[in-house]
Formats: sequence, structure tokens, C-alpha cells
Amino acid sequence: MNQFLSRRIFILIPTMSILKVIFRPMQALASSINSKEEWNLSNDEWKSRLSPESYYILRDEGTERAFSSKLNNEKRKGVFHCAGCDLALFLSEKKYDSGTGWPSFWDAIQGSVETKVDFKLIVPRTEYHCSRCGGHQGHVFNDGPQPTGKRYCNNGLALRFVPE
Ligand SMILES: [Zn+2]
Repeated sequence: MNQFLSRRIFILIPTMSILKVIFRPMQALASSINSKEEWNLSNDEWKSRLSPESYYILRDEGTERAFSSKLNNEKRKGVFHCAGCDLALFLSEKKYDSGTGWPSFWDAIQGSVETKVDFKLIVPRTEYHCSRCGGHQGHVFNDGPQPTGKRYCNNGLALRFVPE
């Protein structure tokens, strides 16, 4: 290696570590685009992002007709994402056929959904929604298979499936 080249490498290494320090806060900024606050959109903004059917489910807590979603029969390996903000919610390994006509899972990806009690059918039910954009997904019941005993009964219109 000639002297000129080795001197350039010598200068380059400390320069790169300085750049790393500069770029670190920028990376943090980029990841904050996926934060909860960024997904606090107005109804009109949601209407322009979603199909009317998905809007009805995700933003109006609607329920699709049983057996109407092709995701009900989806058996490939992959990940089910929120149709509103694309957060990963469910893994195919935790999907099962509940016979109800809605895509059903016995567990959600940790931290991806939050619950609240609703009284839409008079009897209290546990509603769950995407923890990032707040989009309604479905209801969770205690009659699912082990190991959790949970049944996450999800609207297919609220999901986007990404095969592996
Ligand atoms: Zn979401």
C-alpha cells in the first residue's frame, strides 16, 4: 500500500465514526414516523386511505358478514398486518379454524393490539384494536384453543396478509 492511500484510510475511519454519531438521531426520527401520534388521522384522512368497506370496520367498529373474507380460508405461512397502518398483528402459526366464518387466532403478536369493553350487543364484549392506529379489528373471547384459551375473532377487511 502506498503512503498516500494509507493516510487516506487513516483519515476516513475517524470521519466515519463522526458520521455515525450525526446519523443516529436521524434514524430515530425516521422510526418515529411509525409512532402512534403519526397515525392520529382525521376521519377524512382515513376515508381517503381506506376502501369504504375497510373504513366501516376499522374506523366505525363495523363487522363484516361471516364467511365473506377470503382470509378466513387463508392457510399459507405468513403475517397478518393491520389494513390501516400495516402493523404486524398476527402470525399464521396462531391462526385456526374456529368455524365462525371470521379469521380466528389464539394469540396476537405481543403489544400489537389493545382491548376495551363494548356494549354494542348489550352483553359486554371485549373489543380489540390495533395498538398503533387504533383501527378496530374484532372481539376476543375466552373459548379459544390452548395454550391461551383465547379466540381473537377478526374481520378480514381489517387485515392485510403477507405470505412468507
Ligand atoms: Zn393499525
